[in-house]
Amino acid sequence: MSTPRIVRLGPLLERHYERFDFKNHVPKDPVRFPHLYRKPRDIEVIGFVAAAMAFGRVSAFEPHLARICEHLGDNPADVLLAATQEVPDKDALDAVTQATAWKYRWLTPEDLRAMLLGLGKALHRWGSLEESFRAFVPVKPTKKQQEVGVWEPLGAWSLALRELALSCHPTPSERHRAMAFLFPSTDGAAACKRQHLFLRWMVRPATEGVDFGIWSVLRPAELVPPCDTHTARIGHALGLCSSADPSRTTADELTRSLRLADKDDPARFDFALAHLGISGGCRAAYMPTVCDTCGLREMCRWWGKI
Ligand code: SF4
Repeated sequence: MSTPRIVRLGPLLERHYERFDFKNHVPKDPVRFPHLYRKPRDIEVIGFVAAAMAFGRVSAFEPHLARICEHLGDNPADVLLAATQEVPDKDALDAVTQATAWKYRWLTPEDLRAMLLGLGKALHRWGSLEESFRAFVPVKPTKKQQEVGVWEPLGAWSLALRELALSCHPTPSERHRAMAFLFPSTDGAAACKRQHLFLRWMVRPATEGVDFGIWSVLRPAELVPPCDTHTARIGHALGLCSSADPSRTTADELTRSLRLADKDDPARFDFALAHLGISGGCRAAYMPTVCDTCGLREMCRWWGKI
């Protein structure tokens, strides 16, 4: 994005952020599930699961997340720890099995159960999910590592968690499709939206009542705003990125553009932009009912184009 463009777009983004009704959108977002908890370890665990399951229609995955929360009770991290101790607690193991006794798209009960038990094992090994992530953050990053940024520790962490989850799966294999989906590598072209979403929830401050700010292992400035169909399309409409395809390249481009608007907290704009698409009706095409009142319209490529 060019400097003259961000000079014009920056104030519109700020106004959209300032006017956005965060409070009313949290209940329509998967972040509402970790908000059911107070203890950081519970927020981490349910946050990870909610972000991992956040694909497809919100109305399709929400009942499954509600079921997981219901069966794991008020202290989900303790249940996962009890289910994965040397001699597993039978009640805790039953709770995990019941919490995951359903299919979602291509994810089977065995896949979902392995995900939860893998998180329990991570809690045993590192004490918390933040500490598990910290284990993969270089203390003195090389210049190349600085350039790659959060993608490298995110990928190494995800693979380590995948290994733990696979050790709890009845049919483990190195190329297990579901495990690779729940714990993806960052080596390819994928935007890894769900993993960056989880990091945003943990790292960004709770300023708007959306994110939690309970992790200090990263600074908000280091985050990559989660890039999905909505943010890629809207980003493309506004000229924040050159493609509407939600890929890693687009995620990096969006990050660079949003850093021009806020170098310390580029992911600050993400929730308000994503919900313009999720629940605000933006289809990245001119629709009078939505576009005529959109505060970003004067910088949008679709504005006025019928
Ligand atoms: S003007 Fe319309 S298409 Fe453009 S960002 Fe706003 S709602 Fe989306």
